[in-house]
Amino acid sequence: MTDTATHRAEPPFDAQPQAYPGSTAAMTPTPDHGEDSYRGSGRLAGKIAVVTGADSGIGRAVAIAFAREGADLVLSYLDEDIDARETARWVQQAGRRVVLVPGDLSDPSHGAALVSQAVEEFGRIDVLVNNAGYQKCADSIDDISVEDWNRHFAVNVHSMFYLVKAAVPHMAKGASIINTASMNAKMPMERQLAYSSTKAAITNFTANLAKLLADKGIRANAVLPGPIWTPLIPATMNDEEVEGFGKQVPMQRPGQPAELAPPYVMLASDEGSYISGAMIAVTGGAALL
Ligand code: NAD
Repeated sequence: MTDTATHRAEPPFDAQPQAYPGSTAAMTPTPDHGEDSYRGSGRLAGKIAVVTGADSGIGRAVAIAFAREGADLVLSYLDEDIDARETARWVQQAGRRVVLVPGDLSDPSHGAALVSQAVEEFGRIDVLVNNAGYQKCADSIDDISVEDWNRHFAVNVHSMFYLVKAAVPHMAKGASIINTASMNAKMPMERQLAYSSTKAAITNFTANLAKLLADKGIRANAVLPGPIWTPLIPATMNDEEVEGFGKQVPMQRPGQPAELAPPYVMLASDEGSYISGAMIAVTGGAALL
């Protein structure tokens, strides 16, 4: 169904199970990343941005918006080459340069290699968007293996530390770090114990980073999305969760990735110069107090 006022898809959605990490092409309806709507106005002109989790979903919408605002991009993703090439195509269509770097960010050496590649190519990093994320739902604590628990923290939290540590020496005053957390950081879901715990860790990490990096003139902020229509959803949730996806928030529909891009642009741009340590909720009306 489609909300007549916003023209945004709303539940019920068809069941559409996918193997992790999922693909955009297999989704019905197709997510909106702002391909036909985002208009840039030079707000990131000349900036160099590294975006993780950039092949699809929120990362693709951020990449498209950043490129149309004038940034060159290094795009990191696990191994979804088809989706990544499509994101790169949009960046190039905006007239910007793009480098694709696949690999597993839970490996500290890959984080360092990603930063080295960005610096080799562009000489510095102005914006780091830590957006890669892993989730696996479980009905009971018995269903969460130690490996699963550790993987959540390795991908969602430890990778951010590796990347920030490697990137900061290449960031100058005015640079910006943006971490993707989740509504779950404040409103945990029982089927997402490990995931929600990592997202709460990310908000604390971000708040602390804002203090720690202030003397270097580097800002750190987090975006806390509500339910967003991306491959992560059919690749990790059951049919019932997919069918009703978005019903849990006051707007009763999921956000589209395109609806996430504006806060990332604002936080990345010089217009956000006094914003650091902020937790920006983009949740379709669910207030995070
Ligand atoms: P997505 O599936 O489009 O993106 C997830 C990305 O993470 C993929 O690009 C994948 O390549 C990357 N990734 C996963 N494991 C990785 C690894 N080991 N190494 C490198 N990259 C890895 O889904 P999305 O919803 O756009 O997710 C982006 C972020 O948004 C995630 O951090 C997710 O937790 C967060 N988020 C999503 C929702 C939602 O409802 N979709 C809600 C709140 C927060």
